[in-house]
Order: sequence, then C-alpha cells, then structure tokens
Amino acid sequence: MAYRLLIDGELVEGAAQLDVINPATGRSLTAAPRADAAQAEQAIAAGKRAFPAWSKLTFADRRVYLEKLADAIEAQVDTLARLLTQEQGKPIRQATGEVLGTAKAFRYYAEQVLEPRILRETAQERIIEQRYPLGVVAAIAPWNFPLLMIALKVAPALITGNCVIAKPAPTTPLTTLLLGELAAEIFPAGVFQTLVDQNDLGSLLSSHPDIAFVSFTGSTATGKKVLSSTADTLKRFTLELGGNDAAIVLDDADIAKVAPRLFHGATANSGQVCVAIKRVYAPRSMIDALCDALGQLARDAAVGDGLEQGVTIGPIQNKAQFEKLLGYIAEAREEGTIVAGGEPVEGDGYFIRPTIVRDLPDDARLVREEQFGPVLPVLAYDDLDDAIARANDSEYGLGGSIWSGDVERGIAVASRIESGNVFVNRSVDLPLDIPFGGAKHSGIGRQQAVEGMEDFTQARIVNAALA
Ligand code: NAD
Repeated sequence: MAYRLLIDGELVEGAAQLDVINPATGRSLTAAPRADAAQAEQAIAAGKRAFPAWSKLTFADRRVYLEKLADAIEAQVDTLARLLTQEQGKPIRQATGEVLGTAKAFRYYAEQVLEPRILRETAQERIIEQRYPLGVVAAIAPWNFPLLMIALKVAPALITGNCVIAKPAPTTPLTTLLLGELAAEIFPAGVFQTLVDQNDLGSLLSSHPDIAFVSFTGSTATGKKVLSSTADTLKRFTLELGGNDAAIVLDDADIAKVAPRLFHGATANSGQVCVAIKRVYAPRSMIDALCDALGQLARDAAVGDGLEQGVTIGPIQNKAQFEKLLGYIAEAREEGTIVAGGEPVEGDGYFIRPTIVRDLPDDARLVREEQFGPVLPVLAYDDLDDAIARANDSEYGLGGSIWSGDVERGIAVASRIESGNVFVNRSVDLPLDIPFGGAKHSGIGRQQAVEGMEDFTQARIVNAALA
C-alpha cells in the first residue's frame, strides 16, 4: 500500500520518501512520504484558509465530525492495530488497545463543550469569560504511542475550533498517515492535515507565525528547542516531556502483590512510557526478596515479535534507542549486579529482555537519566526520608509511585513527591478526564481533561457595565 500525506484536503505524495523499519525484524517495512518545507508551508496556508469556517461552527456541529472519525477508526481497528505493531513493535493486543483508546479519545472530546462562564453578575455589571480557538495547531508526537498521542492533541484542538497539522515521529509515521486517510473522507480541506518529516520540520512549525499553538510531546532536549523557537512569535504551547519516575516501596508493602505491578509499570510497552517506573527504591531488608520476585517475572516474560501470539514484550522501537539501552546495560554490568536479563536476544530485531539491576550507585547513568526501556534499577534505602529525598533529587518531575499496605500512608508519602502525577499502589494510569502534566523539566502545561482542552483556546473576559 502507498501511504500519502493529507494536505489541503488532498492525499498527496511526499517531496521525498523515508524508509520505515519494522523493529521486530530490523528490516524495511515500507516507504513513507516525507514532506519538505514547501509542503509544510502549503499545509499551514491551507489550515489558515480553513480556520474561519471551522471555528465558526458550534461545538455540536464539530462533534459530528469527531464522532465520524471515531467510527472510522473503530471500523479499521484490525488494520490499524496490525500496522501499529509493525511500525512501533508493541504486542498486537496492546496495539488494539491503543487503537480503541484513540477512538475513545475522539469520542470523549466530541462530547465536550466550553461554555462561557459568568465570573460576576450584579445589577451594575456582568463579567463573562469566553473562550475562542487560536488558529492552526501543530501536534508533534513521539514514537511510543504514535496514534494515541496524536489523538490526545488533535481531538481537543478540533473540538475547540482549531485546525490541526499532525506530525508523527519519523520512525512511526504510518498509523498517523492512515488516520489522515480516514480524516480525508470526513473533514473539510485544511482542517486536519498530516505531515511526515525526518526530524527536520519541527522547528519550521514551532517558529512559524501562522502556527498559533504547538502541542508537543517528546524528549526534554527537543522540548527545550521548541520552547526557544516559539519565543519570537510568543506562541502558545504545551510541552509533555521526559521523566525518571521513582517507585518507593514502603516497609509495609506485600512483595508478592507489589512485584508484578512494579514489573508491569516498568516494562509495559517495553518500558517506553513517559510515566513508566524508571527506578525503584525499597527498604534494605526487602531488597533481596523484591529482586528475586522481579527477576523471576523478567525471566518469565515472553519477548518477541508483537504479531506473535502470547508475546508480552515487543522490541525497542528504533535502533538508536536500542543502542542507547545496550549502553546503559554495559555500564550497569560494571557498576552493579544484573539480576535478570542483560543479554541481547538473537536475531536482527531490536529486542532487549527485561533487565533488573541492583547495587548501583545513585550517580549511575541508569539511575540519573531516563532510560526509556525495560531496564530497571532497584535501589536500597535505610530511611524513608532519605528515599523521598533521592526520589526528588532529579531534574525531572513527571510521575512517581508509592507502594504500601496502608493507602493513607501511601497518600501521605505521595504528597511529598515533587512531580505532576503520583500514583499510590498503581502506575501508568492516565484517564482521559483527569489532567496530566509534568513538573520541573518534565513539561509545561496540561494535557487531557477539560484543563488540557482549555489550553487550545484564548480566554476573553467580556466586562460589561449594566447600569
Ligand atoms: P523526540 O523529542 O526525539 O521527538 C518527538 C517529536 O519531536 C518527533 O515528532 C520529532 O520529529 C519532533 N522534533 C524533532 N526535532 C524537533 C524540533 N527541533 N522542533 C520540534 N519538533 C521536533 O522524542 P522521542 O524520542 O520521539 O520520544 C521519547 C520521549 O518522549 C521520551 O523522553 C518520553 O519520556 C517522552 N514522552 C513524554 C510524554 C509525556 O506525556 N510527558 C509522553 C510520551 C513520551
């Protein structure tokens, strides 16, 4: 099948092509169209032309379009899920979950309405907060949840009356392109468009005077570039960036119960989750038992091509990330003790068996940096205050989790963690109707829920004297 970009209502070829690699085989899956700067300019101009009519529609009018797209996604669930597994690597059941979650995100936002709010009403005055859309939005996504991340940007942008250009990561463009093909049948020209690049159009979008808002999810390093390139145009933006979430196991936790949940939180999507558990702190007296349990779970995991039945952990999404993880493992072997995993898997795919590491110093790169893969350091603590201080001693502040037999105690400890989200006795749970966003270098702004949707609008205070 030939994939095409959606620009100004037309499905078009790219100015060039790029090779999409299947991470389970390390071989080319297909070619994708690659846009150049001229095509990006065409898309921005088309979005600008489409904006006046689209923004004048009511929420109820726009709702119909979003629901039609959700229907179209659900009608193609198997095709989209298979393609997602092939380009991203995740096991097919998880890919199916992501596709259905994408449809759900469009349905959730389809139902939202931003009503004007009366801020003050007296015999003398009425003060109202209204919200109006911004213009053309750039939705820039990473490669870990290619479809869902696009949906969490595109759906709130569209329902609030903006036009949107979806730009996936260069290693996972195919499902976004297919989404564009579905959208081509539904939306007016220029309202929803797709652009694929080779990491070279992001700055054009984020610095362009006719892009009103950048909704960016990706690494902290790239997020900083986006922040600086939006400055000249005083552009609005949301940055959802990296994390290095600590899980703190309290001394009253039941290891048999907690270990599988910690393992899932650290290895779901091969650990390539922004709010994955990226380091574990446990009381020194519990560390042997916890490492035994995590090691067993790692040895039992079914690692393989996500299209194969029974596989629970797919490959790492791309070669650069795979090599980065091998580097962390090599260093961990020198500085700590590998409890399980740590060996490459035979073949050309980018597979890494879940790896549990203990006895690392706090300044090991695997502890300090975001590994973004199924390689988990487990660290001992003697004093809870010290564990909390070590958890907070990070430039990141995305998530974190506390594990305890006493949920109130868990919540009390969670209240001392400096991050945007803290889980208690669970992890990797981001409901659509709950706002999500990072502290410190993990981001600026909020995504999801009504708060995330409001970011795609400008507040206008209308202040009227009645007498
Ligand atoms: P990345 O920063 O390399 O790329 C993200 C996107 O930015 C891609 O579409 C890329 O093409 C684009 N890009 C590259 N250069 C750009 C520039 N100068 N201006 C604008 N855009 C540019 O990130 P990645 O490696 O694809 O994703 C992994 C990272 O994403 C991890 O750090 C992870 O924690 C983070 N992430 C965060 C969240 C969150 O919600 N906080 C969610 C998922 C992933």
